[in-house]
Amino acid sequence: MPGRFSGKVAIITGSSFGIGRETALLFAKEGAKVTVTGRSEERLEGTRRALIDAGIPESKFLIVAADITTSSGQDSLIAETLKRFGKIDILVNNAGASIPDSKKRTGVNQGIETYEQVMKLNVQSVIEMTQKIRPHLAKTKGDIVNVSSIVALSFGWARTPYYPLAKAALDQYTRSAAIDLISEGIRVNTVNPGVVQTGFHESATGLSADASQKFYDDMGNNPSAIPIGFSGRPEHIAKAIAFLADRDSSEYIIGQNIIADGCTSLVLGIHSQISHPKK
Ligand code: NDP
Repeated sequence: MPGRFSGKVAIITGSSFGIGRETALLFAKEGAKVTVTGRSEERLEGTRRALIDAGIPESKFLIVAADITTSSGQDSLIAETLKRFGKIDILVNNAGASIPDSKKRTGVNQGIETYEQVMKLNVQSVIEMTQKIRPHLAKTKGDIVNVSSIVALSFGWARTPYYPLAKAALDQYTRSAAIDLISEGIRVNTVNPGVVQTGFHESATGLSADASQKFYDDMGNNPSAIPIGFSGRPEHIAKAIAFLADRDSSEYIIGQNIIADGCTSLVLGIHSQISHPKK
């Protein structure tokens, strides 16, 4: 299938659901061979079906069930991709989550084990994947796109401090890695989403799918939260990821963040209290 990713091989972590699934679909539709991964066999089957339904032949994608926080999971992801497709051009470090505290503690009382889990998934696994994939991307002059969040920006999140901490660390790591790796021709950038309708809220809060959808709808209907007037959909983020992964589109952008949040991060609480005179 011709497209801007024709001839490219991409690993997209966390592609069994949400933003990652949509990114895998977009990349495959635009010609890439993609490695789809996540832990849940059921969710991976959902992505497989979505790819087949989109007309992508099985020869153009590979599914690897792996926990990205384990060394063996990371190794098998890379080894199986190389075995099947022979090279790697693009890594999208998308797997991530705000992992709830097992004892339901909030704020500064959240446990250190929660801190460790959140950092391991959102930061350490990205560092390890970057180290392991470096020689392969150096060969292809490849691209890395990390999926961060607007929680990384400089405002506080009182209830769940470790997830924003992790994403801020990811942004800073991206800048440092970008300088180091561009000497080998590898670009690194991030996309920082705002509120996006995926499984994220469900896994972060333990709420049902229906209650989470209500959260996304309520947020979208609140212009003080999301001025564009709706919560983001996975394709909004997938398109930003594709832009940063496509060297023709973004060659001179290195170590940067693209915020895709419907204007959320520009709104201050006081704005909702100020009425603007009508013209
Ligand atoms: P989802 O919960 O819908 O998807 C998360 C994906 O990550 C799933 O495919 C899941 O796969 C995978 N994953 C989680 N933990 C692991 C693990 N240990 N090993 C392997 N895979 C794992 O969330 P989103 O699509 O929204 O999240 C994608 C990224 O976007 C994350 O980095 C998140 O932090 C970020 N983000 C999301 C926002 C939102 O509002 N949705 C806002 C800002 C940032 P499986 O369950 O099969 O293991």
